[in-house]
Amino acid sequence: MGRLADHPPYQKYAVAVRRSRIDGFGVFALEPVPRGQKIGEVRGEPISVSEARRRAATLERIMIVEISPRTAVDLARSTDPMRFTNHSCQPNGRLSIQDGRIEFYALRDIAVAEEITVAYGETHHAGRLACRCGAPGCVGRL
Ligand SMILES: [Zn+2]
Repeated sequence: MGRLADHPPYQKYAVAVRRSRIDGFGVFALEPVPRGQKIGEVRGEPISVSEARRRAATLERIMIVEISPRTAVDLARSTDPMRFTNHSCQPNGRLSIQDGRIEFYALRDIAVAEEITVAYGETHHAGRLACRCGAPGCVGRL
């Protein structure tokens, strides 16, 4: 997992998918990412928001992002490394949803070997999971 050769062209910075202290697997920078830069993107299965909500209600672990009032993307079968990006209540990255694209940007300079995290927010369904990000002020759930 996470070998550079597997990265799609819209992955702008090299990352590795490794075991994370936060939850399961996470995404780790293999090169420095300057603040404001696009790190990469995820693509997945386009579904309706109602289907997204149905899946969110029935599955324990999901990763679905709503990209418009009617459309969502289910990343369960995506092979893009950024799909493993964990939530943190004090993230070093952010999700940008624009024109149907789900992109990840650096909120600050990210060092080699740092785990890349974002705040999932309301457009993101992560299932019924406890947040273990460990950040001060952690809200405790996703
Ligand atoms: Zn947290």
